[in-house]
Amino acid sequence: MPELTENISFVVVALPIPLHRQFTYSVKGELPSDIIGRRVLAPFGKRILTGIIVAVPETAPSDHEIRPIMEILDDAPIFNEKLLEFTKWVAEYYFASWGETLKAALPLGMSPHDVMRVKTAEPVSEQIISEIAKKAPKRAALLRELSCHSGEVTVGYLEKKLQSSTIADQLDALERAGLIICERVVEGEARAKIRKAAVLNGEAIGSQEQFREVLNTLDAKAPKQALALSYIYIQHRRLNGEPILAADIVRETKVNEQAVEGLAAKGYIRLIMTEVVRREHIGDSSLAERDETALPLTAEQDHAVRRINDAITAQKHKTFLLHGVTGSGKTLVYFHAIKQTAAIGKTSLFLVPEISLTPQLIDRFRAAFGERHIAVVHSRMAIGERYDQWRQISAGKVRVVIGTRSAIFAPIENLGLIIIDEEHEPSYKQDAPAPRYNARDCAVARGKMENTAVILGSATPSMESMYNASIGKYHLLEISARADNAKLPAVRTVNMLNERKHKRILKSFSKELLDAIADRTEKREGIILFHNRRGFATHIECNDCGAIPKCRNCSVTLTYHKTAHQLRCHYCSYTRIVPNACETCGGLTLRDIGAGTQRIEEELSELLEMRGIKVQIARMDTDTTSKRGAHRAILRDFAEGKTDILVGTQMVAKGLDFKRVTLVGVINADMRLFMPDFRASERTFQLLMQVVGRAGRSADSRGEALIQTSHPEHQTILAAVEGRYDHFYGDELQLRKDAYYPPFTRFVTVEFSGADEQKTHEHARWFAHFFPKNTPSLIMLGPAAPTIWRLRSLYRRLLIIKDIKHIDPSGEQLRNALRTAYALYQQHTASSSVKVIIDIDSFGGL
Ligand code: ADP
Ligand code: ZN
Repeated sequence: MPELTENISFVVVALPIPLHRQFTYSVKGELPSDIIGRRVLAPFGKRILTGIIVAVPETAPSDHEIRPIMEILDDAPIFNEKLLEFTKWVAEYYFASWGETLKAALPLGMSPHDVMRVKTAEPVSEQIISEIAKKAPKRAALLRELSCHSGEVTVGYLEKKLQSSTIADQLDALERAGLIICERVVEGEARAKIRKAAVLNGEAIGSQEQFREVLNTLDAKAPKQALALSYIYIQHRRLNGEPILAADIVRETKVNEQAVEGLAAKGYIRLIMTEVVRREHIGDSSLAERDETALPLTAEQDHAVRRINDAITAQKHKTFLLHGVTGSGKTLVYFHAIKQTAAIGKTSLFLVPEISLTPQLIDRFRAAFGERHIAVVHSRMAIGERYDQWRQISAGKVRVVIGTRSAIFAPIENLGLIIIDEEHEPSYKQDAPAPRYNARDCAVARGKMENTAVILGSATPSMESMYNASIGKYHLLEISARADNAKLPAVRTVNMLNERKHKRILKSFSKELLDAIADRTEKREGIILFHNRRGFATHIECNDCGAIPKCRNCSVTLTYHKTAHQLRCHYCSYTRIVPNACETCGGLTLRDIGAGTQRIEEELSELLEMRGIKVQIARMDTDTTSKRGAHRAILRDFAEGKTDILVGTQMVAKGLDFKRVTLVGVINADMRLFMPDFRASERTFQLLMQVVGRAGRSADSRGEALIQTSHPEHQTILAAVEGRYDHFYGDELQLRKDAYYPPFTRFVTVEFSGADEQKTHEHARWFAHFFPKNTPSLIMLGPAAPTIWRLRSLYRRLLIIKDIKHIDPSGEQLRNALRTAYALYQQHTASSSVKVIIDIDSFGGL
């Protein structure tokens, strides 16, 4: 209970925990008027968390258990009112807590949290350890490990060392026995990088004459100072008077720091402390150099730019769906819109599905706007870089922010435009942790709140977005022709069933595709081959009994990786060496079945060799691009013609714009088509259209695409071959309507997972029981076991809820029903052994 004599204020804090409520804390003294939106360190149970102040209560709370916050971390708000409102909307829509959502909005390093550190109370004798070992061997092992360290170690370290993630109880017991000391310290806070720097003293060295004079006097007595001063002088002029880092002076002139300090002592320069902005070096101009904004627009581009720029200038919210075929110059439309936004003094936000997949695009931005006006934010960046970029953005120092989905929360003060490139991409949807948001849909919501234009761009718009355009929610802009006189490639299918009958198939390749490859390599033209599976074989199988090795933790088969001679689970990363014999029957012949990109690469090289053709093949998939920069290197070699053929997974389907590519081959178009996922057709169509679009990007030669399939008459494949988005959309829309799928409904999954299958099923049944039955807009299915019914050692059950949009336009009925069911479930059923995940507008359900 705070003392009455003291002046105590109260704040409401959102904490990064899954509870859908906020918490009140006390603060000593008066509150500054701009307290809302600042970060605090707050005690919560035994933990310390970073929370955000979201409100100040109007009356002092009567609750007596109010704890004081530990520290206010900022001296100014880091979330403005608009961002607070936006994050609150995201939390409510996606059924997450506000605190979790605010945490997702912050870059790593700005949510410091506590870490438990442990040490022994005093030196422990071997006798004590062996005494404990008799009753509690795990506890003894812990103590032995600790006694090897003179200082503190983290719990994380101990968990790793003892290969156990459940040592909390053991630590508790040891602490109670007085043998160890546990201490919580706050860690993980990123800070600005402040460095010593020099600025020229204008009074001492104001002119070139003065500089020369000083140099002359220095030269004889202090040659090192003279050297340093010359460097500073030149840099001063080059950088327009910006501070020059002391470390740079030392490195570039090879003088020591004393020489620099000597110059300061003599008054020629001043030494100051300055903030260094860490930025990832984006692009190196190797892939694009010309500024495209100077190009004259085509008529269709011009029309789109005019409509968009009108909306930007009016500063009213409007969402455009820019549907332009691959290579139609959508990027140029974006550039003009960003320029217009900058012209009215506002900043643009540009989202891409994955930064590392788009080095070419970033280079084009640099050429158009200059590196200093761009901030890039994505999850592979180092913490310091992300922190600095975030601060650059909130200080209003850049014109355009480029980022992946989490950049939708970028702290832009004067937002004027949001662009979602490749809006159909599933990577805009966050899978885990909460909030499970779709950045594309959030963009429209944020655009509405901040009165900005929003552009959703794609060659193959999602069903949802095209539907929204068709009912007038979005404004459709079409670009039907390629820019720069390039033609869309000629596409044809190869009927693999037919070819097999006539023995015109060699391994994974039809003779037709091989002929085309041979022809193009002879002409030294570029080829892209797409295959949507990495690894060597999809699985191995015993020749005698047919047994297939499965993952220990998941209900899926293991993929064979030949170079490492391993079997790997692509879901949980479980890895093992290929067994010598079948583990079911002992049979000695194990066949590898099905092809991944490794095998495609190997087969192709052999088949071409048989024809006497030598080629350089590069493979691009998650296995070959895990190192930073690997992706860019592969693309550069291909752009320069050092490699002839690029074989890869969906990574090769996206965004690449190489004029030398004249042939695209799809090894097997049917792989996704029959998956039990209502988006299977849509994904297949999108991938095929995207990958086909990599060919024929030059006016000089018409590109060609060959699609191998066993279902050439399937309407999705047909639409892709004919390049008819409208056909695909029409067919698919009817199917979606008949089966109550999006865009006609909101598709929600409620997933239960636990180590005990029976218990998991029971939990799901209870939730279903609590779910209101008589809401007209809602359809509930399940619980059922999904295809992957066991994942990472946990059994899964799924409830599927469909919310019919025309009955429940705002989604309020859905949210109410979920709230009711969730509250009852929490009250009566919930246990820590079964995890529940509610996913709104889910992409899952497999
Ligand atoms: P999209 O993003 O629609 O697939 P891009 O923006 O990548 O298409 O454009 C494809 C190519 O066409 C790029 O090399 C681009 O520089 C070029 N291009 C776009 N618009 C024009 C234009 N108006 N005049 C000349 N070339 C253009
Ligand atoms: Zn697994």
